[in-house]
Order: sequence, then C-alpha cells, then structure tokens
Amino acid sequence: MFRAVMPFSKLFQRLNETDEGAMRVVFLAAAGIGAAVALQKVVRQIDSLVVPRRRFRVRHGNGPAGVNFTSKTTYTVVGTSAPPTLADIPTLVTEMRDAFESGVTLPLANRLETLVAMKKMFVENEQRILRAVWEDLRRPEGETLYYDFLLVKTEIQNLITNLHKWTKPERVSKFSLLTFPSSQWVEKDAFGTVLIIGPFNYPFALTAGVVAGAVAGGNNVVLKPSNDVPFSSNLLRELFVKYVDPRVVTVVGPHIAGDGVDVVTSLMRQKLDFVFFTGSSRVGAIIAKQAAETLTPIALELGGKNPVFVDETADLSLAAKQCVWGRTLNCGQQCVAPEFVLVHRSVLEKFLEQARRWTHELVPDPYLEGAMGRLVGWNASASSAGDDDKNNAADDSDGNTSGRKSAAMRVKQLLDVARAGKHGEKIVVGGGADFSRGVVEPTVAVCGWDSPLMREEMFAPVLCVVPYDDLEDATRMVRTRPKPLALYVFSKHKKNTRHILDNTTSGGVTINGVLFHVGHTGLPFGGVGESGAGSYHGEASVKCFTHQKPTLRKWRDLHDFGVFTDPFFVYGPHDRVKRTLLRAVAERS
Ligand code: NAD
Repeated sequence: MFRAVMPFSKLFQRLNETDEGAMRVVFLAAAGIGAAVALQKVVRQIDSLVVPRRRFRVRHGNGPAGVNFTSKTTYTVVGTSAPPTLADIPTLVTEMRDAFESGVTLPLANRLETLVAMKKMFVENEQRILRAVWEDLRRPEGETLYYDFLLVKTEIQNLITNLHKWTKPERVSKFSLLTFPSSQWVEKDAFGTVLIIGPFNYPFALTAGVVAGAVAGGNNVVLKPSNDVPFSSNLLRELFVKYVDPRVVTVVGPHIAGDGVDVVTSLMRQKLDFVFFTGSSRVGAIIAKQAAETLTPIALELGGKNPVFVDETADLSLAAKQCVWGRTLNCGQQCVAPEFVLVHRSVLEKFLEQARRWTHELVPDPYLEGAMGRLVGWNASASSAGDDDKNNAADDSDGNTSGRKSAAMRVKQLLDVARAGKHGEKIVVGGGADFSRGVVEPTVAVCGWDSPLMREEMFAPVLCVVPYDDLEDATRMVRTRPKPLALYVFSKHKKNTRHILDNTTSGGVTINGVLFHVGHTGLPFGGVGESGAGSYHGEASVKCFTHQKPTLRKWRDLHDFGVFTDPFFVYGPHDRVKRTLLRAVAERS
C-alpha cells in the first residue's frame, strides 16, 4: 500500500526496485493521464452547459444593467394619436430605432407581454376581424375564421408557449481540435427595427401572424399592410394602437391615400435592420433591389405557379376534390393554390369527370353571396374589366383602383383565351364571370404547356389541367419553369412520389393533399428561387427574425503552457512542423 504522505522521490525509488514496481509506475502514470483527461472532459461539459445559461440570463432577464427602457428622444410620431403621414415616415423610423435601442423589446417578459396583448387583441375582436375581411373580400366566414383568425391565434399561442425554448442560446457540443478547449453556442440576436410589408389576400394572417414572430425574436416592427383591403388594414392599425405598445409595433399606411407604393418606397429609403416582404414576385424584385442598395437583409415570401402531379395510381376523386377546393379558396387568390394539374393521360377523362363533380358539389352557385370569395377590389374597380383595350395599359402604379382593374382585366383576358381555345384549351367546367361583382366561376380547363394560361401566376379560381405521358418528361418540364412556392403529389406509388420529390424544387410539398404543409405548425413555410427566400412559422419565425450569432469561448484556465489555449502553430511563419500540425488539426475540427 502507498501512503499518501510518502515523499514522491522515496515512492519512486521503491517502485523502481523491481520490474513489478516499474510496471506500477507506468500504470500509475497512465491512470493519472486518463483521470486528468476525463476530468477535463467533465469540466468542459460543465462549462459548455453553464456558459450559455449565464448568457441566457443576461439576454432574457430583466434586461441588461443600466437600461431603463426610456427613450433618448421625445417622440413626435410614434404613440401619438394621429396616424403617421407620408412626411412622418423618416421621423417614425428614427423613433422606432431609438425605441429598439432603449432595450424595450429585448427582455423575455416584455416580448411575452406583447404576444399576450396580441392574443387578447384577436380574442376580443373576432367578429370585427371576420367582418372586415368580409367587407374587403366577401370571403365565406369559415375560410376567414380558419386562415385569418385561428391560424394567427395558434401561431401567437405557440410563440407564447415556446418563447423561452426557441429564443435561448443553443449549445454546440461538437468537438474541434482547433478550438479545444472551448465552449460554443449560437445566440439569437434581434435584428432591430424590422419592416413588414403585407399583401391583400390574407390581411391578418400575413401581417399580424408575421409580426408575432418578429416580436418573439426581440425586434420592434413597422407594419405596412396592403392598401387593397382598406377595412382590414384600418382595423389592424386601430387594434395595434389600442392593444400594443407603439414602440413595439406601429402600423403605417392605411390612412395614407393611394396604392401604398409611395409609403413602401419611403420606408425602404430609411435605415432598417430587416425587411420581411410578402407579395408578388414583380414587387418582390423591386423590394430586393431597394434593400440591396442599403445592404438590408430581407426575407421574400412571393408567389408562383404551383403544380400538382396526379399519376395513374392516384385516388382521383380525392385529387380532384382537393384541387377544386384549393383553387377556389379565397377566389383563387392564394399563393399556395394548386394552379395546374399534370394528369397521367390514362386517367385524364376520369379526373375531369371528378373535377366537374366536385366543382358542382363544393361551389354549386358562385354568384350567391358568401359561396366563394370575390376578386379583390370587387366593390370598387372591376366593373370596367370588360372595357376596351386601353385599360390594358392601366399600370399598377396608377393607384389602387387601376391596379386592381388591371388584375381583373388579366383574368378576363385569360378566360377569353380559354374560351377561344386557340392553343388547344378546352373548358371543362365554368369559364364565366361577372366582373362588376368580382365573381369568377370556378373553372377547369385542359391546356397545353404553351397556353397563355400557363405563363404567369393567375390569382383567380382557374385550374389548368395538362395531360402527360411520361413522368420523367413532366418533371423535366416543371424544372424548366420558375421554382414554385408549393408542389402537390397524388399517388399511391412510392417510386413515382420519390421521383417527383427528387426531380423538382419547390418551397414546400404536400403528398395526397394540397395546402396542408402550410398549416402544420411544426414545419417552416417559405419559397425558393423565384418564389422567395427565407421561411417562417413557429420556431422558424424566431430564426427568421434573429441573427444566429455563433459564439465561442476559449478556455484560459488550463495552465497548459499555451499548447491548447494559445497554439503556437497558428502564427506564421509556417514551417514544416507548423504546417503538419495545421493539417492534423484541420482534419479534427
Ligand atoms: P403586391 O406585390 O401587389 O403587393 C404587396 C405589398 O407591396 C402591398 O403592401 C403593396 O402596397 C406593396 N406594393 C405594391 N406595389 C409596389 C411597388 N411598386 N413598390 C413598393 N411596394 C409595392 O401583392 P398583392 O397583390 O397584395 O398579393 C398577391 C401576391 O402576393 C401574389 O403574387 C401571391 O402569390 C403573393 N403572396 C405570397 C405569399 C407567400 O407567403 N409566399 C402569401 C400571400 C401572397
């Protein structure tokens, strides 16, 4: 037995007296090194566990020391009772930036307070929200209830429930020889003042639903809703003023006359920290260009023409029912609507029969008020959609009314094309419209790839059906087109489904259904290529509205003579030994 008190030299001598003793020395040395390595590992684990938490408390406690959440300036626009005018925009953005700098949006308790207020805002105003969307779009109440009310409420609730989990720093445990010994994690830093630009088609889901993610990320928001849905946009402003601290969310635009282009242009000239745009690809390109000039990061949620594959094994009744439903929701004014169906020629007639049947069952009388939504601007503009060709020149920048007139004109022209059948189009069901009331009949038309109906996104309830013979050709054709926001597959054949998934690119996919991937709260939603960049919903919203900041802490307390804590071989000049070490380290990093 060795006594702990025995002097080291004596112990060494005794151990060395025999071979067995020498073996013990070796064994003890090995055991000592092993124990040291193990201890180091344990300490490293403890450190990497503790460091993010320490940091986390700073980010999410009652705010960084010294910040008392009061503004440096006196507000002249934000929080005042008069809605901001066009001339107010530079001051408004400056004041919002100042509000962010004050730290008011960062503490978890404050983010939570805003989200709870937003939830209350929805719960207490359900009827007013349903009514506003009805005035703007004449959409059936059930549709609005789900898409513009319940979905937003659920999104806010999810953010409330998971705020702590989704915003806390994420530890990275992967070992790297280069950085050893170190702890590393990813912090989620709020961008600052973000601009959210909304489209008309889901006036609450695509504004308030997005704002919730930005708030959860710790930002403050300037919200610019669409001018094409004045009832909804004005209500949004009224409700945000009433329920939410104006330093956290300010709505600008609904009170400023015109189509909103000048408001967006003026906002984009200001120094913003992030822009989230939802709208058409055409306007998305304008926003991207403006953002590029100031190197402002952006997320683009754009449109596209979404394909559906129906192969010879598909449940044709389900496929047709889903396609008709998805195409007629909100009068076809939906970014993820199924736009064209690629049907295997062997089942084409059966599919068309089912499409006819389901159109009559789901929308027996589209002219009946409340049976189906109306084209936006139904009550103001579309009456002259049948006017002569000079209306074609109507430019979107002319103003709200003429912009919407030209949208209705485009739908009218395409229905005329379908009826004329010059490119082989054949209307199977529908084809009629009453533009004075913004009604377009649910329409199914067989088309070829070269039909004008197949060129651009059509924001109307018109479903194109394109027969195909060979799945490989069909996927190749889809690949030659701009990348869609959504893609749908109806098939019982696993190999066909896999082929489609592997050979196409789209923002998202639902198999044996349409739209559903957008409604799943655990999935990110967004486009790719021409249909957008960046995704959101649930945890993805927090990621979208925060900078994922990688942070690494090198240990300084190992007393390893700098071998690990300050490795000599990273410094030049790099001789052979250093280069060899660099190679060895790179392979294990
Ligand atoms: P839009 O592009 O016309 O307008 C969107 C917003 O941009 C509005 O607030 C509008 O005031 C503003 N705007 C319009 N023209 C502008 C210009 N020249 N300069 C600066 N700002 C301008 O879109 P919309 O008609 O309101 O909505 C329909 C489009 O949005 C469709 O293309 C649809 O696919 C797309 N969309 C995409 C998603 C998605 O999540 N990816 C969701 C809904 C709608």
